[in-house]
Amino acid sequence: MYKINRNFAKFPGSYLFSTIAKKVSEYQEGHPDAKIIRLGIGDVTRPLPPTVIKAMHEAVDEMGNEATFKGYAPDLGYGFLREAIVAWDFKRLGCDISTDEVFVSDGAKSDSGSIQELFAADNRIAVTDPVYPVYIDSNVIAGRCGEYDEKKEGWTDVTYMPVTAENGFVPEFPKEHCDIIYLCLPNNPTGTTLTKQQLQDFVDYARREGSVIIYDAAYEAYISQEGICHSIYECEGARECAIEIRSFSKNAGFTGTRLGYTVIPKDIICDGMRLRDMWARRHGCKFNGAPYIIQKAGAAVYTPQGQSEVKELIDYYMGNAAIIRDGLKNAGFEVYGGVNAPYIWMKTPNGMTSWGFFDYLLAEANVVGTPGSGFGPSGEGYFRLTAFGTKENSEAALERIAAL
Ligand code: PLP
Repeated sequence: MYKINRNFAKFPGSYLFSTIAKKVSEYQEGHPDAKIIRLGIGDVTRPLPPTVIKAMHEAVDEMGNEATFKGYAPDLGYGFLREAIVAWDFKRLGCDISTDEVFVSDGAKSDSGSIQELFAADNRIAVTDPVYPVYIDSNVIAGRCGEYDEKKEGWTDVTYMPVTAENGFVPEFPKEHCDIIYLCLPNNPTGTTLTKQQLQDFVDYARREGSVIIYDAAYEAYISQEGICHSIYECEGARECAIEIRSFSKNAGFTGTRLGYTVIPKDIICDGMRLRDMWARRHGCKFNGAPYIIQKAGAAVYTPQGQSEVKELIDYYMGNAAIIRDGLKNAGFEVYGGVNAPYIWMKTPNGMTSWGFFDYLLAEANVVGTPGSGFGPSGEGYFRLTAFGTKENSEAALERIAAL
């Protein structure tokens, strides 16, 4: 008999967002007239920018013409896109990244879930807590996280770095040695981030410890304050220890269009092997390239017109963030995030659990958010609302919550 990967059996319960969907649909069945507002899932709602649509139309026409038709894309991505990425996302910030260190992909979820394939099974991972669940889940599947401890609501072999109101959402360095450190900045779900100096401290720490940082910058475009890195390569020494993952989903609205990229500098060398070369091998083996049409669309994001349209999108969502953040504050809630990220992270009132508050908000205000405990043990007692809805819904949701 063949053997399955038993690590799948270690996952507790069901996936966070399927539990939410089930609860919401059960509630809706029982209350068919309820007008439910969904500020739960981190999906965008605004259409793609016109410049992106135009580029896609042109690329579609090229695909229908024998002279300009494209088959498989180059493994690493088309040069026109990688050159635009390097110029706009790195050179502009003074970061020394070259085009052959950029790997175009179908999004940051695939990359952040797959990057662990570069590492041996007995590495110890550290994650900020709470955080985007993919980092842990992909390592669970690879057998790197031990067992799920129901009491701790966490994995036995994972080092959690709590980010809570008590420590100002600044993680402490792990007490034990960790090999792979996941940082998501600005962080999903807390919407908080680190200053340049705090990030530099992490880079210095990783170099001292001989660790590698997996830096997920999916929300980089939402940074509005000074003194915060847009790329980890703004930190000295990051080329030796940090892999950066980016997405076109949250800035340009590509959640349904799929495009992202990963940067692996050639200076990251372990055991005589360059991680960049290993990823090139892996990419060539398992991935046949993001579609030409989508890469053309991605390149349009980097034109001046594309950038100004992306800014409009971000301003729209951050307008919602301000409505939600200020509304909650005025209603007396303890609120974080929503300044450099489209997520508002609130403390549940009166010591309610995250799921208790979810049920309460659904029943009393017909508003759906995401229980903080779904993002890690330190998320318990918190709740996430997203700014990715419409302005009208954000306002209506806040009116309902304030009236409670
Ligand atoms: N990384 C983080 C931190 C996210 O929150 C998300 C989506 O919610 C992703 C990656 C996924 O991005 P993509 O749509 O590019 O797969």
